[in-house]
Amino acid sequence: MKRTVNGICIALAIASTAACQKSKEPSQEKTEAVPEEPAQPGQGKVETTKSPPKPGEDDMGDVTIKTTQVSGHVYMLEGRGGNIGVSAGEDGVVMVDDQFAPLAPKILDAVKALGKGEPEYVINTHWHGDHAGGNTAFGAKAAIVAQENVRKRLSAPQKRGEEVVEPMPAPGLPVVTFKENVSLHMNGEEIRVVHFPRGHTDGDSIVFFTGANVVHMGDHFFNGRFPFVDTASGGDPVQYAANVKSVLDQIKDDTKVIPGHGPLATKADLATFHQTLSETIKIVQAARKAKKSLDQVKQAGLPEKYKSWGEGFIKTDAWIETIYSSAK
Ligand SMILES: [Zn+2]
Repeated sequence: MKRTVNGICIALAIASTAACQKSKEPSQEKTEAVPEEPAQPGQGKVETTKSPPKPGEDDMGDVTIKTTQVSGHVYMLEGRGGNIGVSAGEDGVVMVDDQFAPLAPKILDAVKALGKGEPEYVINTHWHGDHAGGNTAFGAKAAIVAQENVRKRLSAPQKRGEEVVEPMPAPGLPVVTFKENVSLHMNGEEIRVVHFPRGHTDGDSIVFFTGANVVHMGDHFFNGRFPFVDTASGGDPVQYAANVKSVLDQIKDDTKVIPGHGPLATKADLATFHQTLSETIKIVQAARKAKKSLDQVKQAGLPEKYKSWGEGFIKTDAWIETIYSSAK
C-alpha cells in the first residue's frame, strides 16, 4: 500500500463538496441486526475458499464467496447480502460494499486471491447492514468513502421496522464523505461515485467504472425482483424508478451491470427492471386515484406476468404497499 489513510485527501480527486474526516476511536466487534436482503444465485467462474469458522458465533460459516470477472480488472463477489464490486489493478484495490461483518475474513481472502493486495478504499453504496456491515473490519485499514447521509445514518440509531439498528462503531464510519459525487482515479480509469437522492434511501451512490464499462447499482437494482425501497430512510419508489432511468440514459448498450442483489446483468436486464417498476407503479397509482383502498389493490394484485418479480425478498403485496403508501 503506497498511500496512508491519513493522506487520502491528497490521494483522491475529490469534488468540491467533499469533506475529509478521520476517527481514532478503538475498534469494537459488532454484528448488524438488520434483516437481510438475500442474494440470489448468479453465474460465477471462480470459487474462492473460506477461512474456518470460529465456534460459538454467527460466523455465516456456510457462506462461500464466489468471484466473477466482470470486465478486465473489475470483479463481482457474491456471498450473502449485497453484491460486491472490486477494482483490482496496478494502483491497488477499490471495493464497493462489504456485506456482513462475519464474512469479512472470507471476503478479504477472495480479494487477496486477485493478487493485488487488500482494499485501500471501500465505497458504501448506502448504509444498510447487508452492504456496509463489514465496515468495522475493513475500516481498520481501508478508507471508507460514502455519501454524507450514509455517515449520518451509520452514526446514529436507525429504525428498521420494529428493529433499532445500533450506530456503527467509529472505525466503520466513512472517512471521506461527499454531497453529490467523488471520483477515484485508479487502475487506469476514473471510478465515479455518484449520489442518486431519495431512491432506495437518501444516501445511495451508484458507481461507474468508466474505463472498464461497468456500473455497480447498489440497491437501485434487484435483478428480476421487486426492489426494497426504504421509505423510513428517505427512499421513494417513484424517484427510485427515475434514478434507474437516469442510469439507463448514461450507460452504453454493452455496459455490464452489477446489481445490489441478483445475478450479474446487462443494460437490457436493467431496462426490463425499469419497465416493470414504471408499469407496476402506474397500476397502483391509478387504483389509488380511483379511490381503491390498499386492501382492494392488494386483493386485485398485479398482472400475472409480474408474478416472479414478487418471489424475492419483497413480495408483491409489499411492493404494492410501498407504492400506495408513498403516493402523494
Ligand atoms: Zn439496501
